[in-house]
Amino acid sequence: MSELNDEFRDSIGTITAEGDRKWIFAKKPFGKLYNARTIVSYLYLLVFFALPWIKVNGEPLFMFNLIERKFILFGTIFWPQDFFLFVIAMLTFMVFVVLFTVVFGRLFCGWICPQTIFMEMVFRKIEYWIEGDAEKQKRLNDAEWNKEKVLKRGAKFFAFFGFSFIIAHYFLAYIIGMDAVVQYMSEGLVNHIGTFIPLVVFSFVFFAVYWRFREQACIIVCPYGRLQGVMLDPNSIVVAYDYVRGEPRGKMKRHAEPEKKLGDCIDCMACVKVCPTGIDIRNGTQLECVNCTACIDACDHIMESVHKPTGLIRYASENNIARSEKLKVTPRIIAYSVVLVALVAVLFALMLTRKDVQATVMRAQGMLFQKQEDGRISNLYNIKLINKTRNTMPVELKLIGTNGEIQVVGKSIVMQPESASDAVFFVIMDKQDIPHRKNKIEIGVYSKGEKLDDVNTNFMGPGGH
Ligand code: SF4
Ligand code: SF4
Repeated sequence: MSELNDEFRDSIGTITAEGDRKWIFAKKPFGKLYNARTIVSYLYLLVFFALPWIKVNGEPLFMFNLIERKFILFGTIFWPQDFFLFVIAMLTFMVFVVLFTVVFGRLFCGWICPQTIFMEMVFRKIEYWIEGDAEKQKRLNDAEWNKEKVLKRGAKFFAFFGFSFIIAHYFLAYIIGMDAVVQYMSEGLVNHIGTFIPLVVFSFVFFAVYWRFREQACIIVCPYGRLQGVMLDPNSIVVAYDYVRGEPRGKMKRHAEPEKKLGDCIDCMACVKVCPTGIDIRNGTQLECVNCTACIDACDHIMESVHKPTGLIRYASENNIARSEKLKVTPRIIAYSVVLVALVAVLFALMLTRKDVQATVMRAQGMLFQKQEDGRISNLYNIKLINKTRNTMPVELKLIGTNGEIQVVGKSIVMQPESASDAVFFVIMDKQDIPHRKNKIEIGVYSKGEKLDDVNTNFMGPGGH
């Protein structure tokens, strides 16, 4: 980007030269963007904690039951048979994320990512409330263990673990449903030890992340963060320092004339002190930056106090800073947009044509055909039916476009709600209707006269008639 020294890229801001963890005591941010992020985070938390309680026709609005492979989105149940829909939806989401990142950088990290929301807007706020701002936190950290330190650290421990325990319960509710969580809790979690142990483990994992691991999750674990290097380009909008306007930086001198003309950056380090990942944004876009905007607020406040225009640190692209260029629609953006539109169209088409009942028919293995006493020919089939609805449905099978009869072996088929059923049946046909050894037939699946699905299969005969 500029003539700035690139040495900072050789190491991570939170690791010392000896390889130890450098603890970040981030100063509490304040300002317009922090206030806006606080409002967004409250709405986000409201949605996060409210969704598991919302039901549609007795089912959760959202559920991601990996154990039973049952997924509910907006009250619609998706089965493993809908896996292709899931794959297309994931692909669409990934292309959207890439396109969004190419244009808007890590906006998602700062405003929507659950890790940032919980870390900066829940746990960090609790920490400020109990231990005070960065300076007080540092003093407490360096102090010997005394009554104040025991009380504050104890209160922080219980608050952090309590919230981690609550969050773990809500994540569990997204997996098995809030009804099951409430039932387990009323029956005593020790009576559901298989659920209780993972719950405690996850609570401790959340606790460890927010108590100790913190920004390291974004810097060294998050795959999205690691991919920034390939997704961002000079046209991407990121939290950026305007080095054209800011350099050469230097402290303001009140009474003496500056020796040389200085830029707008007064080298106050306010932007560095608020950074939760411990970086200096003036070094340029960095992997560690989660676009939390705290440095924008901090710098704007300083600029206002020295009567200079705000926006020395702002949302801007490298092209905007270096050449005052506005966002350009590049071939890369066009290509991603075309792929995204195509995927969204495919996804919609698949969703609209998705069947409530899905049938799979297979000829019984190892059997060719049987000759009935009346001379007709029969083939034996297995049918698997998936009922994705919440209704019980009696099922009738009919041949479509072919003469013949279908005889179900055993009881008539009744599909239970949201479940799979199996049945065995014969297709019996007259010899004159079977011209070949292998004949294509179509079987319709009906319930109360309504066709739910149809399946093509083969009917084997002696041939040559
Ligand atoms: S550089 Fe600024 S936007 Fe990036 S993480 Fe630090 S404070 Fe947040
Ligand atoms: S807050 Fe603004 S003026 Fe102060 S060091 Fe950072 S960029 Fe420079």
